[in-house]
Amino acid sequence: MHTATSALGLTPHHAGGFTLTTAPAHGPGSTHERTYDAVVLALDTAGLKALLDASPHVGDPSWRARIAGLQQAPPFLVSRYWLDSPVHPARPGFLGTAGYGPLDNISVLDRFEGQAVRWAARTGGSVVELHAYATDPHTDRSALQQRLRAELARLYPETATANVLDQRHEWRNDCPLFAPGSYPDRPTITTAHPRLVLAGDLVRTDAPVALMERAATSGFQAANALLGTWHVRGHPLLTVPAQGRTACLRLFARALSPALTSHPDRSRPARTGTDRHASPTPAQT
Ligand SMILES: Cc1cc2nc3c(=O)[nH]c(=O)nc-3n(C[C@H](O)[C@H](O)[C@H](O)COP(=O)(O)OP(=O)(O)OC[C@H]3O[C@@H](n4cnc5c(N)ncnc54)[C@H](O)[C@@H]3O)c2cc1C
Repeated sequence: MHTATSALGLTPHHAGGFTLTTAPAHGPGSTHERTYDAVVLALDTAGLKALLDASPHVGDPSWRARIAGLQQAPPFLVSRYWLDSPVHPARPGFLGTAGYGPLDNISVLDRFEGQAVRWAARTGGSVVELHAYATDPHTDRSALQQRLRAELARLYPETATANVLDQRHEWRNDCPLFAPGSYPDRPTITTAHPRLVLAGDLVRTDAPVALMERAATSGFQAANALLGTWHVRGHPLLTVPAQGRTACLRLFARALSPALTSHPDRSRPARTGTDRHASPTPAQT
């Protein structure tokens, strides 16, 4: 395992296998080349696009065009505060919010995160995290950070007078964007090259999963797809049924809602595999 290492380029060999060029992710350092029998690309959108830009022999033009068309969601902010007093005991560990400006949720980390629990127990303070998703890329970041803090005080008034002992503000934009209508063009786990597979939240899978669960599930599916090329059985994956359990109720539901019949995935089995043959459902993200 090579941590803190960037993948710079990938070259498939005619005889099979790949050469991967890497370099230290931070600071100076020379590049390294190693050959591998198979590759799982589990990068975020920008990383995947950059790697393929530098790897002109990977994939066919239409697949490369689909990857090039992937987009990232607008920037998000994660603000974490270390306060010198506790939040009210009745506050939930996590609260999703609406109608409080850009504030999307509040987490009281000292309710469930070990390090924060220990810090709060030691100091009598609290550790609170605020999230704002899909912000305006041109927003005044400092003003938005202050706005989140003000909305926290509006929702949890006891925090208005708490002193801030420390704070961190992380601005990132590495979440994949799932625009309406983009589902059919999203890359699947398998590719035209049997030993090159994708994984991560950005891929299209036939399982009803998203976010971390899609990242983890697609990782298993990618591994299973590769193992299959060596005729080795992979890890079985079970998921919730993708259709109602009773046939007559399904028929009844279809009769009542013609739109349901236009979704080919409604009749798919619950067991998941690779999605080489997946058909898109517009409702899936
Ligand atoms: C604020 C926030 C809160 C969230 N909360 C939840 C939650 O409560 N539950 C949930 O399920 N999900 C949550 N998510 C979503 C979850 O974090 C993502 O769905 C998940 O991390 C996606 O995993 P991934 O492996 O696809 O991508 P990532 O986690 O983005 O991993 C991709 C990795 O590839 C690396 N990389 C990129 N380019 C290269 C390169 N050239 N060489 C080497 N490495 C490279 C990146 O550095 C990165 O580490 C949250 C996300 C955010 C931003």
